Amino acid sequence: MDLNTKSVIRNAWRITSQRGRTCLRIRVPGGHLPAELMTDIQQIAQQYGNGSVHITTRQGFEVPGIRFEDMAAVNRRMQPILDALEVAIGVPMGQRGSGYPAAGTRNVAACIGSRVCPFANYDTTALAARIERQVYPNHRHLKIACTGCPNDCIKAHLQDFGILGQTDVQLDAARCIGCEACQKNCKARVTDALEMRHGRPVRDADQCIGCGECVLKCPTGAWRRSATKYYRMIILGRTGKKNPRLAATFLEWATEEVILAVLRNVYPFIETHIDNRLPKEHLGYIVDRVGYETFKNALLKGVTLNDKAVVAGELHFAGYRHRPQTHEPRHEPSGR
Ligand code: SF4
Ligand code: SF4
Ligand code: SF4
Repeated sequence: MDLNTKSVIRNAWRITSQRGRTCLRIRVPGGHLPAELMTDIQQIAQQYGNGSVHITTRQGFEVPGIRFEDMAAVNRRMQPILDALEVAIGVPMGQRGSGYPAAGTRNVAACIGSRVCPFANYDTTALAARIERQVYPNHRHLKIACTGCPNDCIKAHLQDFGILGQTDVQLDAARCIGCEACQKNCKARVTDALEMRHGRPVRDADQCIGCGECVLKCPTGAWRRSATKYYRMIILGRTGKKNPRLAATFLEWATEEVILAVLRNVYPFIETHIDNRLPKEHLGYIVDRVGYETFKNALLKGVTLNDKAVVAGELHFAGYRHRPQTHEPRHEPSGR
């Protein structure tokens, strides 16, 4: 069967190691899947695939072993899944029955968030859905993940954009009994941002990362999360052969509207600066070429920052690159 591989990839099917067979990719924005869709995925895998389902690292499913000639039928069979996971959250999906319209921008992943996890500072799946609506479909390669607190269970530090929940904790001193539980926990497990003075905890705002653990530790409910939700945006983390590295902090204490406005600015930056001679250039390598200042200015173009937001003056990456002569990893200098 003749196959236009470019159009297959753009429609989110995978080119596989098996001749004549492909692999269906299914996005699950935010990682919460309505249970009834498991039946649809099972039926596709059994009827068209090899009977197995791979659970991907970015919270999707891949159904391997599908014959090229069955792709159109599977695209039609996918419509209930697309309706429930994409159309229902307002993502424009194009012609019905024709599958995914793009593959470049990957599924917006999220940790389990406040629907389940007490550490979460926000509903990660709801934000992932908002982002999905804004960024998908798009052919440009981009990875985004949302995580409810700095524990970063979704590994946002390995994405182009990671969004970590922050809360500006507030103390009701009248409820505090001076037990020191919050201070001891912050010192042992977090950033040592609390100091006991006159029997009450005092927060060093420069040290506090807004994780919200003090809220959970307090036996009297003296600490509470702020009504406004804040976010730390970390950028340009990546895996890969050339130069893997952890994401670096770009924004702290930014509101949701700021985060969304910044993400809207990414695609015009890519279109302006990407090297189209390459088959694919990942965002981090584009920024390595053009420099952080150019990228920062593009991301913040037209964005009104909230008062509390802090923008990084420079990026501090932890990573390494390989030197072909010695094969010894060279550690990334800070401030690159
Ligand atoms: S990152 Fe935080 S909020 Fe998300 S699952 Fe882990 S501990 Fe819970
Ligand atoms: S929010 Fe986190 S870092 Fe800040 S004081 Fe509470 S436990 Fe410490
Ligand atoms: S845990 Fe609560 S009661 Fe104990 S010192 Fe901290 S704020 Fe006060």
